[in-house]
Amino acid sequence: MTSEEKSITTDKEPSTDPADAFGALSDPLRVDILQALGGYHRETEYEKTIGFADLRRRVGVEDSGRFRYHLKQLHGNFVEKVDGGCRLTYAGMKIVAAILMGTYTDVITKDATELDSDCFVCDNPAVATYENGTCIVSCANDHPLFGWQVPPTAAADATLPEIVDVAELLARQGMERTLNGYCPECYHTIEPEVLAEQTEPPVFRAQCETCGARLISPVGYCLLADPRVAAFYQRHGHDLNKYYIWDLPFIQNEDLCTLVGESPVRVEINVSVAGETLTATVDETGHVTDYQLVGE
Ligand SMILES: [Zn+2]
Ligand SMILES: [Zn+2]
Repeated sequence: MTSEEKSITTDKEPSTDPADAFGALSDPLRVDILQALGGYHRETEYEKTIGFADLRRRVGVEDSGRFRYHLKQLHGNFVEKVDGGCRLTYAGMKIVAAILMGTYTDVITKDATELDSDCFVCDNPAVATYENGTCIVSCANDHPLFGWQVPPTAAADATLPEIVDVAELLARQGMERTLNGYCPECYHTIEPEVLAEQTEPPVFRAQCETCGARLISPVGYCLLADPRVAAFYQRHGHDLNKYYIWDLPFIQNEDLCTLVGESPVRVEINVSVAGETLTATVDETGHVTDYQLVGE
């Protein structure tokens, strides 16, 4: 063991205070160290641990004492020491991913762009914008049609219609994850519910008690990730995922959504394609409990 390696043998206990943990990232050199470790991970599929001296060379710091000091500040929360070398912890990998995604640094704004779609309320063209990490689709009268977060890395070189595609993909995946009981943002457990008491029509709602992420949508969103609804579209030669989410009748038309039970809540949603109707019954947690096929 070299003297350099010896000097990092005392790992700090991980701090549970977020201010302390993120305080460790206050120096640019420490961010460089995390990125160098992330780069090493990408290049070496199986070998995840790098020696102190190799890491210092990768970061490009001559002063061994200075490097040792800053690496120590990352130990515990973001970097761990294994077999005489270091590697990223799970939190370290997440931080590196967030840096690469531009989540905390990039401010990207795109000019409003008309889409090949009309607002279902006023028939004006649907207009997409991207600002502050969020893709929003509305119209000249500000009717809200759709909105979802898209990381800056996915937006940087994309056109607005491409960003809308990504946002819709993330929304479908987010609904699937939410209905499976996991927050789409932080992966803590989340309890989705269909509210009918003070809302007409009923709405789907899920709020994460951990990170505060909140999802409110028409109940029809519960059908977006449903394989049987997708299969119903497919049987008639249509790809459910090719439609803008807000263009789907079972999302936009509240007359197709009927409250059939209040305690517990039961909602029937009619999905019609080519003269055939699939009636899906959704329970108080947003899950489909029953399907009925009705020919017209
Ligand atoms: Zn409108
Ligand atoms: Zn969350």
